Amino acid sequence: MAKLSIRDLDLKSKIVFIRVDFNVPLAAGGQEITSDKRIRASLPTIRYALEQGAGVILASHLGRPKGKPNPEMSLKPAARRLEELLGQPVKMAPDCVGPEVEAMKPAPGEVVLLENLRFHAEEEKNDPEFSRKLAALCDVYVNDAFGSAHRAHASTAGMVQFVSQAAAGLLMEQELRFLGMATRHPERPAVAILGGAKVSDKIEVISNLMKIVDRLLIGGAMAYTFQKAQGEPVGKSLVEDDKLDLARRLMADAGGKLLLPSDHVVASELKEGAEHEVVIAIPDDKLGVDIGPATIARYSEVIRGAKTIIWNGPMGVFEKPPFDKGTVALARAVAESGAVSVVGGGDSEKAIKSAGVADRITHISTGGGASLEFLSGLELPGVAVLTDK
Ligand code: AMP
Repeated sequence: MAKLSIRDLDLKSKIVFIRVDFNVPLAAGGQEITSDKRIRASLPTIRYALEQGAGVILASHLGRPKGKPNPEMSLKPAARRLEELLGQPVKMAPDCVGPEVEAMKPAPGEVVLLENLRFHAEEEKNDPEFSRKLAALCDVYVNDAFGSAHRAHASTAGMVQFVSQAAAGLLMEQELRFLGMATRHPERPAVAILGGAKVSDKIEVISNLMKIVDRLLIGGAMAYTFQKAQGEPVGKSLVEDDKLDLARRLMADAGGKLLLPSDHVVASELKEGAEHEVVIAIPDDKLGVDIGPATIARYSEVIRGAKTIIWNGPMGVFEKPPFDKGTVALARAVAESGAVSVVGGGDSEKAIKSAGVADRITHISTGGGASLEFLSGLELPGVAVLTDK
């Protein structure tokens, strides 16, 4: 069911609690932000709420402080960066609950950033009393933290029962729109490209996507588990020996939809610039590090014919050039296909950026774990609790 959007709310003179994802990378010591991408991603929602005349309370987790205050994981640097980006003051709260925070109610047009939610163990425990205290700070609730929507924590799920209206922020709405479009009513042919290290991390994604897409292109180390399951030689490649039966079952269920590499780049060790060659059958003393040129050509052909593409995970050890060739070639093919393309967060995003084609991808998800759960067909707790339209 469609969920309420921040655009459906009357925000004039209201206090809106926006759960944002300011879980930014910090340099050692916790004073300096090394990438403000996540803060920038939340700006449209924050600006919208301010323009509508709301007082804005922002809340996020940062790192893993394990339920105790830790100055190295304070959100203070995020407040300073947000001030620069918004061009207006951002009041930093000393905590996320308690009398001092309650006294900081923002007037219309003002912004308050609460201190790290995970300084309290009750956040991850989804504690009802803690949830009630967070909810008491505001009139309406907005979740814009897609990257945390697969967690049922106090700020992403628990507090919603204590507010009158709970809506998706603009970033959250965009994530749900594109991931929903690709998985619910994809224009056909629909193609999924799945790579990365382990089959075990993506069993549910493979099982769910094979029901949706017309072709499933497999690459990365996970391909070798499938290939060993078929009796093909895999040498010293990364294989999950306890998942061979599962791989056989997945292949049987997929019918002819699941495609595996037909040639491989192999090396004797996993090192940048290591000697390597292209083979059809992997020798005993070598390990597979990338898909080969014939596979790139075959997969690119399928990608060129696609109208919808879902991608998660690299085709090889792309962090160590030249073993990034397969991943980069497919990134280009996706960009040139003209298809609606949705890329899952993390490594796939890095690969798209290193191929220089990020601007030609329809949607790059901001949530790694959350996008995997979405692609697995699971309902995200942080989305389920939002008010239905
Ligand atoms: P994932 O997080 O499951 O998407 O996996 C990403 C990781 O898989 C990256 O760090 C890649 O280096 C790794 N990977 C991809 N292909 C291979 C391979 N052939 N051998 C070892 N690791 C690989």
